Amino acid sequence: MHTVFLALGSNLGDKIANLLNAYNLIQNRIGQITAQSDFIISKPWGFQSDNNFVNSVVKVTTQLDPFELLHTTQQIERDLGRTSKSSNGLYHDRIIDIDILIYDSISINTPELTIPHPHMKSRSFVTYPLSQIDDSYAD
Ligand code: ADP
Ligand code: MG
Repeated sequence: MHTVFLALGSNLGDKIANLLNAYNLIQNRIGQITAQSDFIISKPWGFQSDNNFVNSVVKVTTQLDPFELLHTTQQIERDLGRTSKSSNGLYHDRIIDIDILIYDSISINTPELTIPHPHMKSRSFVTYPLSQIDDSYAD
């Protein structure tokens, strides 16, 4: 079994419902959620939008390998109605975003998948909820 931390965000529609629907699909397809942070409200990062985000971080136990995990989170994003993908550093409003922050203590550095997530330490909407559920990431 592997321990992973996932960061979720939504800034379109019923944002909390979108996150809760994602939690359901995570439990069904990835594994048990063993801890969840509060829901955090944050301003869009890296792009202009009037739609604030709701963010959270969850801790999940899974048997999926890192790439299976990525493909599963991407399928969950699509199934919840996400259409646009960020590219070349351009960000958009999104129904749901699920990023892999940490997978056990491993490092992966490929164009498709980077773990630990490269921006996790610089974004308070990730570090704060992460610190709520994992003492080793608390300041
Ligand atoms: P962002 O999360 O930056 O807003 P996307 O969700 O559209 O943008 O993801 C862009 C790409 O980031 C994906 O196609 C995926 O292959 C890649 N990626 C690299 N590392 C990770 C990671 N740790 N978690 C999620 N996606 C990742
Ligand atoms: Mg993403």
